[in-house]
Amino acid sequence: MIDVVNIQTQPVSKSRISECDFDQLVFGKTFSDHMFVASYDGKGWQDLKIVPYGDLSLSPALSALHYGQAIFEGLKAYKSQSGEALVFRPVENLKRLNKSAERLCMPTLPEEIFMSGLTQLLSIDRDWIPSKPGYSLYIRPYMFASDEYIGVKPSENYIFIIFTSPVGAYYNKPVKVRVEPHYTRAAPGGMGFAKAAGNYAASMYPATLALKDGYDQLLWTDGVEHKYFEESGTMNVMFIINDTIITPPTTDSILKGITRDSVLQLAKDWGVKVEERPVSVAEVMQAIQAGTLQEAFGVGTAATIAHISVVGYEGKDYTLPPVAERKFSNKVLKVLDEIKTGKAPDPHNWVYRV
Ligand code: PMP
Repeated sequence: MIDVVNIQTQPVSKSRISECDFDQLVFGKTFSDHMFVASYDGKGWQDLKIVPYGDLSLSPALSALHYGQAIFEGLKAYKSQSGEALVFRPVENLKRLNKSAERLCMPTLPEEIFMSGLTQLLSIDRDWIPSKPGYSLYIRPYMFASDEYIGVKPSENYIFIIFTSPVGAYYNKPVKVRVEPHYTRAAPGGMGFAKAAGNYAASMYPATLALKDGYDQLLWTDGVEHKYFEESGTMNVMFIINDTIITPPTTDSILKGITRDSVLQLAKDWGVKVEERPVSVAEVMQAIQAGTLQEAFGVGTAATIAHISVVGYEGKDYTLPPVAERKFSNKVLKVLDEIKTGKAPDPHNWVYRV
């Protein structure tokens, strides 16, 4: 697969790694030495290269900046005990990138370009993968429209980039969430299932209102009636009521999370009952009050599992069972982290080794 792709490499003359304080990593502010870049010219992907991480020179009329044809992905690499880079389910990220691309009229990216770009980038920047427990190298692939043109139409030219960022241990603090009764992250027929930049822009204002009131994030509800749960912040959401995991199905307004898929797979492996079906706000609020809701948590790449400790609903806060008593979410967090870091067997071949 890899040797069919010819990637030119222009290494940095001097690595910045000695300037990086690996003990004080703030999420998303430190970038490794190199990035992978590919261009699309209306016919095909070309000019694949690995170059020093640095500024791009862009036209003020760049189409992506005006009409938002911009999509991205997020995944992580961990360092194994023998020094290999372990990447969790990267092909799933590529598949999702390509679904996002189709929805936004952007070109899809062949798997061999994505995987060889990623592999060669991780090989050259291997030393940037932190080895401390819980630390990782966050990988950000993204694509944007690059026509110099301000007519509203799909761009002909695109740029695809992968850069990486070493990140510290995610402090898995339980989150306080508020049920959103008015604003919508994504609507039926919209692009919520795509990892499109605009979806995140739309979520910021309502999220800010929740932050001002002391919540960490929102529990998004459906855009039609606001009666069904969709996601929690930028994570998928799961509830355990009477020993059954209940999670919304991935419709066109929900991002199909790779962590979600992995958690559901492990639950099935362990014989835990799973229901993927619409989850109403009424059902969950009743279960909280009846004491049958055992666990509630967000699932996503950043935290793997974010336990929900408090749900704010119609002006009242409801406290959920203590995190220490939550069997499933604590176990799945531990097992997934062990699989990702190569410490546990990987029965579904989720880990890609570089
Ligand atoms: N929903 C949204 C809106 C997200 O941004 C993310 C993070 N990519 C997720 C869910 C979780 O997806 P994943 O498990 O693939 O990180």
